[in-house]
Amino acid sequence: MTSIHMTMEQGRQLAIDCLLENGCDAENAAAVADRMMQAEGDLCHSHGLFRLPWYCTGVKSGRANGQAKPGVEQLAPAVIRVNGDNGYAPMGQRVAHPALVDCARKNGIAALAFTNMFHIAALWPEVEALADDGLIGFAFTAAYPSVAPGGGIKPLFGTNPMGFSWPRKDAPPLVFDQASASMAKGEIQIAARDGHSVPETTGVGPNGETTTDPNVVLKGAQLGFGGYKGASLAMMIELLAGPLIGEFLSIESKEDDGGKGGPPKGGELIIAIDPARFGDPEAIMAHGEKLFELILAQDGTRLPGARRFINRKKTPSEGIDIPESLHDSIKALM
Ligand code: NDP
Repeated sequence: MTSIHMTMEQGRQLAIDCLLENGCDAENAAAVADRMMQAEGDLCHSHGLFRLPWYCTGVKSGRANGQAKPGVEQLAPAVIRVNGDNGYAPMGQRVAHPALVDCARKNGIAALAFTNMFHIAALWPEVEALADDGLIGFAFTAAYPSVAPGGGIKPLFGTNPMGFSWPRKDAPPLVFDQASASMAKGEIQIAARDGHSVPETTGVGPNGETTTDPNVVLKGAQLGFGGYKGASLAMMIELLAGPLIGEFLSIESKEDDGGKGGPPKGGELIIAIDPARFGDPEAIMAHGEKLFELILAQDGTRLPGARRFINRKKTPSEGIDIPESLHDSIKALM
């Protein structure tokens, strides 16, 4: 695969130019570009510039609002809602993050209902930002239906990710961010493209048949990780990021799209906890460190998030590579 090499700043500028050309205003373009470059900087390519054509076509088709002006409402002392104004989540996050931090510090715990927006990104940036501010974070979002309920064979839940963060004093925060499906949809598509098989736990065919053929899984349904246990987590996320906050279930999000195949519209629930309201935050964090030391004392372990933090140190000087085919499709949108 031929690649195009660029600096982080060149990547950001390419994204901004393309988003401006396709109907975003400067603020929305910068928010979306920064989020993609955050992913590129950590070498999480599946949420980097790879998403740019999707972001652009969503705005160009009129489905997503590239001029979004999200607003914050206080629903209860510890509950806020950010209406994303039909735009992309990174723009809403700019408004939501400081409001959530403020609310959590006042109350010890706070929940953010993030509605009326398109979420096609990873969750670690929002939970990591909370940990950077000394808070513990949880985030949940639902997407288009891909995963069957436990024992079922038809897609009903999204690949529904959840993110968690824990602040650390002298180290980057502990962050995990994982889908509830056994394998990411993108990885199944790549296996299909490259002619590889997938594990039997990945999904089932259209009639519920066991298969290792990714093409058959893509026609059938994905499975939750750990079988019914992952499916239950996907179900929980549907409830938290859908009905609780007045947003779509994954299946309703697909109906809303009406077969256009644009970015998924849906909600996100973010919860922030201020450890300082539970006791001495230094003692709480020191106690957490004991667990991390015990984990790392075992050969073969690492902390979730560690891979990204290592990559993040390299990319500002080394730059990034994107496939030439992706570069061509971005240029074709400008
Ligand atoms: P992965 O399985 O790649 O990783 C999940 C988590 O496990 C990461 O925090 C990762 O940390 C950690 N991890 C990986 N290997 C190890 C290990 N050996 N030891 C300890 N921790 C480890 O992620 P997924 O494929 O499940 O999800 C990928 C991304 O896709 C996520 O960011 C998710 O939010 C996003 N997504 C978004 C959706 C949406 O609708 N918006 C839908 C589904 C997924 P590290 O990063 O350091 O490798």
